[in-house]
Amino acid sequence: MANVFKLLSIAARTGRVTRRYPYEPPLVTEEFRGRVWIDENLCIGCGACVNACPSNALTIEEEGGRRVVRYFMGRCIFCWRCVDVCPTGAMKGTREFELSSDTLEDLIDDVVHTMARCASCGKPFATRRQLDYVRSRIGGPADKYLALGPECRRRRVLKAFETRFVGGGDEERMA
Ligand code: SF4
Ligand code: SF4
Repeated sequence: MANVFKLLSIAARTGRVTRRYPYEPPLVTEEFRGRVWIDENLCIGCGACVNACPSNALTIEEEGGRRVVRYFMGRCIFCWRCVDVCPTGAMKGTREFELSSDTLEDLIDDVVHTMARCASCGKPFATRRQLDYVRSRIGGPADKYLALGPECRRRRVLKAFETRFVGGGDEERMA
């Protein structure tokens, strides 16, 4: 009984600590993690966020020369791993948490990218922005390889080695 009186006296001294949300604003601290959003101007469609997402709230689809990065809030657990791994700062964390809607589309954000095609075989292999991003970092002598898809690039590199170490320098210089 003594403990009850002690608790009551602490409660009386402390006062009310909960909030009458939604009748008054909730306490949202700096550390609070809400939904994320993708800045379309910064996203390069690399898929790093998709690989890091533990709940499949982020997905990637490729069709008809386009790559779509999709964020579905209904599956998001607000961990912000995607924010941590995004190489361009396109993935932003917010403190928004009032997300209910009776329309599914309201919970979906799409970022659409145009695919680049391999200069040799014509297959789509990366987004144009991905290539621009890589070019801006390494560019220069690697440029002729960047325009190729992984298979054609591998063949071209092997050919270059073969030419250099086995012979046929003229062919490589023309490549
Ligand atoms: S916050 Fe977490 S669960 Fe939500 S999209 Fe990002 S990685 Fe996925
Ligand atoms: S990691 Fe960043 S740049 Fe890559 S697809 Fe996700 S949001 Fe876009």
